[in-house]
Amino acid sequence: MAIKDYLRERFFPHMWCPGCGHGTILNSLLRAIEDLGLSKSNIVMTSGIGCSARISGYVDFHSLHTLHGRALAFATGVKLSKPELTVIVPMGDGDALAIGGNHFIHAARRNIDITAIVMNNRIYGMTGGQFSPLSGPGKKATTAPYMTIDNEFDVVELAKAAGATFVARSTAYHCQEATGYLKQAILHKGFSVVEILSQCPTHYGRKNKEGDAAAMLEIQRDTTARIGSKALDENPGLIPRGIFVDIEKPEYCEEYGKIIERATKRKAS
Ligand code: SF4
Ligand code: MG
Repeated sequence: MAIKDYLRERFFPHMWCPGCGHGTILNSLLRAIEDLGLSKSNIVMTSGIGCSARISGYVDFHSLHTLHGRALAFATGVKLSKPELTVIVPMGDGDALAIGGNHFIHAARRNIDITAIVMNNRIYGMTGGQFSPLSGPGKKATTAPYMTIDNEFDVVELAKAAGATFVARSTAYHCQEATGYLKQAILHKGFSVVEILSQCPTHYGRKNKEGDAAAMLEIQRDTTARIGSKALDENPGLIPRGIFVDIEKPEYCEEYGKIIERATKRKAS
């Protein structure tokens, strides 16, 4: 199946601003799905609200565009009722870790077999550039004209601590690397988190004087480094990219299936 077969072309052109990183991430995801040869009728995508969440409207999977921050809750219901389906949840930084923060940590704790993609552009793009839990201190936003003072979450550390069994980070600039991580995340049995740094030139870039999309992509290239690389050893202040966790633990739907089996046997006896 070719990439265009995974898209709902009647909904194009898309609504993203010129230079937005989200289209690149969609492309990385579709390349991963194409490489894996997955049938679109076996994929479910649930999304919440935000520029990132619009992805679910552009793909020809079973898709649900749901409530802000609640995509993982809907995804949990879908996965429990049809565990054989591949469930993918793209989220923005606010959607995943402010409004949806509780769903995020509890999905990770349960180790339910869902692939969560955190498209982190460090700002609420759709609603006009408010700061998010991933903006970090010293940043400008519509709601912080004199700079933010809030510390940010580290998505990788949060996902690890909450119990996610696959955790990776890449960027829109490193789109082929992101495709590789997404492939592994989809194949992984358990809760997988892939954080992909993205750019919002319209709000974050302008307000924080990071420039246009090309300049923001250069920042992604220059401020990150692969784990285990010489660059990261020599500059520990760089943001690490790579696979941080890849472990096996009992998966939630399988464990739940055992409970149903036990309860059914007990009822029959
Ligand atoms: Fe992308 Fe920002 Fe435009 Fe939203 S507002 S589409 S995140 S560039
Ligand atoms: Mg955002």
